[in-house]
Amino acid sequence: MPYRDILKQYWGYDNFRGIQEDIITSIGKDKDTLGLMPTGGGKSITFQVPALAKEGLCLVITPLIALMKDQVQNLKKRGIKALAVYSGMTRDEIVVTLENCIFGNYKFLYISPERLATEIFRVKLAKMKISMITVDESHCISQWGYDFRPAYLKIAEIRDLLPGVPVLALTATATPQVIKDIQIRLHFKEDNVFRMSFERKNLAYVVRNTENKTGELLHILRSVPGSTIIYVRNRRRTKEITELLNNEDITADFYHAGLDDATKDIRQQRWQTGESRVMVATNAFGMGIDKPDVRLVIHLDLPDSPEAYFQEAGRAGRDGEKAYAIILYAKSDKTTLNKRIPDTFPEKEYIKQVYEHLQYYYQMAMGDGLECVREFSIEDFCRKFKYFPVQVDSALKILAQAGYIEYTGEQDNASRLLFTIRRDELYKLHGINEVTDKLIQIILRSYTGLFTDYTYINEASIAVRSGLTQRQVYEILIQLSKLRILSYIPHKKTPYIIYTRERVDSNQLVISKSVYEERKERYESRIQAMIDYVTTNTICRSRMLLRYFGERNEHNCGLCDACIGQQKAIGNEKEMSIEEVIEEILALVSAKPLTPADIAGQINADKDIISKAIRLLLEEKKIIANNGIIHYFCGN
Ligand code: ADP
Ligand code: MG
Repeated sequence: MPYRDILKQYWGYDNFRGIQEDIITSIGKDKDTLGLMPTGGGKSITFQVPALAKEGLCLVITPLIALMKDQVQNLKKRGIKALAVYSGMTRDEIVVTLENCIFGNYKFLYISPERLATEIFRVKLAKMKISMITVDESHCISQWGYDFRPAYLKIAEIRDLLPGVPVLALTATATPQVIKDIQIRLHFKEDNVFRMSFERKNLAYVVRNTENKTGELLHILRSVPGSTIIYVRNRRRTKEITELLNNEDITADFYHAGLDDATKDIRQQRWQTGESRVMVATNAFGMGIDKPDVRLVIHLDLPDSPEAYFQEAGRAGRDGEKAYAIILYAKSDKTTLNKRIPDTFPEKEYIKQVYEHLQYYYQMAMGDGLECVREFSIEDFCRKFKYFPVQVDSALKILAQAGYIEYTGEQDNASRLLFTIRRDELYKLHGINEVTDKLIQIILRSYTGLFTDYTYINEASIAVRSGLTQRQVYEILIQLSKLRILSYIPHKKTPYIIYTRERVDSNQLVISKSVYEERKERYESRIQAMIDYVTTNTICRSRMLLRYFGERNEHNCGLCDACIGQQKAIGNEKEMSIEEVIEEILALVSAKPLTPADIAGQINADKDIISKAIRLLLEEKKIIANNGIIHYFCGN
């Protein structure tokens, strides 16, 4: 079936957008392909359509479990058979899912990169008929990128197992260096990149210098109506700003990674439906959010890279209507941002110390540790050894990059269990009471693979089967852990540390240049690029961002504060009188309805005079305001 017919049949769209068709044709001819489209550009279609045209199963590698579930749901709704494998599923569930991929006539298998390395996946993969490999968020494979994930490097190994299967890499953010690197790391047969412009024609980028951020924030929220996201750096601030807005009768909720899933869902829902206008969030909010009518994205704190900023700002105005991406910048922000360099890259001596203390913390002997999975409470650790959490977090991330540990973010994981003694040893144990023995038997009967790999268990169902309470099950398992009979990781939202190597002497730790110095340098230059962006006000902002991403765009956007400032400078030097402002406003709104912010942006006069002029015109009923939009009043 021609691609266009597939698009029509399953999605109901008549035409491809932008470069979608070019990407589809390329991967359709089994050529390794890299597609660059901004967020919301429609990347999913570019692998879903050709995969439907091909025989076999399309493997989709993507890092975010929530997005994965979303997409699978979405495909199912359209009558397309799709499955997902991610951490959090039991081993049995994974086996069943993978078996289905062999025999079940499925078209898509979504999988998180960490799962690619598992033996079970590789065994089953050999029996699947794979049509193509899709790598979403493919910039994660590059150390040059701002979001490197070591697990992505496993993809090249999978390619070796599937000779002749083409790969389609997709991303919404990549500098020229990263574009090159993605193709190398994914073993592209030859360079093959399709990119569309990242220009957002309806988005006005603005940087406001202000020492009174909350005052300015309220002013903006009152001038521009509509759905809003406010980004701040830390969790505490999300709550503070939300309270401030609520006190000013602006509906707002806050969102960060520390909230439980139910709360996150409720708040996201309230915002999505418009019940609450503003979401005040850390950068944990936004991935996979497809709300078209966001009018404002405001940053109260600076992100640490233009990549991150472009992604976050780009959540405004997906519907093509005018929208604003505003940074509120105070002089001290520069210092704060620069402070993140030593916070993110603490001294190597410090990292070694943290490593050393980690061994004390877990009472781990030299040479021990390989494959040990340990819960990690950063607060507790910092309290014990007198550290600050921010630097410890960074030190652990560097140790992870250097290959000594795996350090997970906070994970909402099901409980897991692994027997650390052999099955035959289990029967030779002495001094185990009857209740405990019975519990062990029930667990052995309920799950498989308990001696080879961590298995997800459910204490509630074990409790029912054993006639114990959940609390008792928990306590017995903890007891058995202490006896080193098994290793039990209770359900909890917590980060983990997993030893990927035996403990070494901290003097022997190797933190290579590529792990430390080179990454630090790139981090510094991203910070510098961000500072340049906010401190320059003579170059079109859209142009600055596009140039950063290697795009040569030859025109100014005409919407950002730099463009508007220039127009003003060219326009007139002297202050305008209120009469002149009134004339200008009437001329503007008689052409088309505008928000007060639009008006203020287009008239070179003091903000207070403009507000006053608008008030006068409203009183005289020469203009009317409807839902925050000013219309020319052409009644009698
Ligand atoms: P991305 O992954 O690039 O951020 P998505 O694949 O999630 O973007 O697509 C964003 C939205 O655009 C989706 O709602 C999708 O259905 C829509 N879309 C994609 N392609 C087309 C098209 N050719 N015509 C109309 N809508 C499209
Ligand atoms: Mg996408």
